[in-house]
Amino acid sequence: MNNVIDGKLDVHGAIITATASGQKLRLGWVNHGPLNKTSTTSFPNGRLHRLGSLNSSAKAQARRASASSHSNSAIACSAVGPPPSEETESFDDSHTRQLADSLQMDKLSILCLSSDTGGGHRASAQALYDCCVTLYGNEFSFNTVDLWTNHSPWPFCNMPKSYFFLVKHPWLWRLNFRCSEPNFIHEFMFSGYEAIVERRFRQAFLDYTPQLIVSVHPLMQHVPIKVLKRMRNNRSLEQRILFTTVVTDLTRCHSTWFHPGVDKCFVANDVVARQAERRGLGHSQITCHGLPIRPAFSLISKNIDKYELRLRLGLDTLASTVMLIGGGEGMGKIATIAEALSHRLSSSDQLIVVCGRNQSLENDLKNRKWKIKVAVKGFINNMAEYMSCCDCVITKAGPGTIAEALTCGLPIVLNGCIPCQEEGNIPYVLDNDVGAYSEEPEQIAEIVSQWFGPSKIRLGLMSERARQLGRPEATFDIVRDLANMVRGSAVAECT
Ligand code: UDP
Repeated sequence: MNNVIDGKLDVHGAIITATASGQKLRLGWVNHGPLNKTSTTSFPNGRLHRLGSLNSSAKAQARRASASSHSNSAIACSAVGPPPSEETESFDDSHTRQLADSLQMDKLSILCLSSDTGGGHRASAQALYDCCVTLYGNEFSFNTVDLWTNHSPWPFCNMPKSYFFLVKHPWLWRLNFRCSEPNFIHEFMFSGYEAIVERRFRQAFLDYTPQLIVSVHPLMQHVPIKVLKRMRNNRSLEQRILFTTVVTDLTRCHSTWFHPGVDKCFVANDVVARQAERRGLGHSQITCHGLPIRPAFSLISKNIDKYELRLRLGLDTLASTVMLIGGGEGMGKIATIAEALSHRLSSSDQLIVVCGRNQSLENDLKNRKWKIKVAVKGFINNMAEYMSCCDCVITKAGPGTIAEALTCGLPIVLNGCIPCQEEGNIPYVLDNDVGAYSEEPEQIAEIVSQWFGPSKIRLGLMSERARQLGRPEATFDIVRDLANMVRGSAVAECT
């Protein structure tokens, strides 16, 4: 009996890979409509290799069938609906067309590995997804998973919580960061992790069946790459899954960001590219497009009407406006800085405080009386709009917020940093003359007050320089490269 278990779409239409129990592989090309070409070739082993279009129970059923007996008829039932009748034993166009219709739902698949340690990784994953949809509609299936939180046992599933505990105790974080940098230490650690999480990671990869994995987190290289390698060695993976990293730090990157086994490593600038080289990556593996930021920043930066935006967001249209933000979690001395600004700025100025996921800070600030116009926000999803209606921003040295502010042409006052990975962002801002640094609330208020008053020209010049330094197209360039890699691998697999 000839039954089909596998299918795949490429850019220009559907390329169908059909595996039959009679050890035949038939390819059909479908250009958004009826099948117009078929060919037959031999295939040595009717093995299951891609089930992207199936729901999870069908996938499980197909996998069981495949594992127990390579019984392709069971797999075919899951893949294309009811079991084929005896009349459809051999391939004919109607059978293949029916298959093609069902496989139109199947897509080339990208799996993004992230983790909720800070808002930056989440925002980067969102940026890649948004860009993928903006550029390619629903051509690709793009899923983001946190392997540590959702596919690991205790205590690994608590990784994000441990991160927030550690960064609140800077000396502990610094110790952890530095001690885990040497290769022999983290290799040893990751080998231990792999032994524990291997089965669950493997299952996640089989469930998502991606052609390409893109990691936006420093802890998502070594273990996933080890698991993929083991899967290839024991033949539970038929096709090679491409592995890429998008580094979301701007200057000082932890060594676990870099794994010489990746197909591509996307970095923000030459400083990070040099670190990648020092960690054993070759020239051809490194691409420098800039830090990924959500496409809304690119679109808005081309066509911005500050006053209309302010009106839409319910803000004063004419007031000089400063944003105060502490990353995705609302970290730092936000309340004291807001108070200092409220006392130092003129009543015609305006402050937007973004508390992110810090609910208690938001509640606290909303209940205070202010001397100037203050808009207190929780976590906002339209950051591009809010930034675009500001004149400057006060933030910790988070790479995501810095990259976004530069794209919007906002001069930056840095008020602190997470030790190690954000420390280098302070000289980055100062050396490029796009902002200032102070941890003292009074001094920060004074800097902003100068910028809105006697130093207005300097504010304008810094804004120009910030815009020149911003890379609004970075995410589009990264996603185009990823799409080409996926398409290339799909075509290579079919030829
Ligand atoms: N962010 C957001 N909405 C909020 C607060 C923050 O979208 O209400 C985003 C912000 O635009 C940036 C990210 O969260 O993209 C924060 O990243 P960053 O690297 O600055 O700091 P982290 O939170 O990772 O320490």
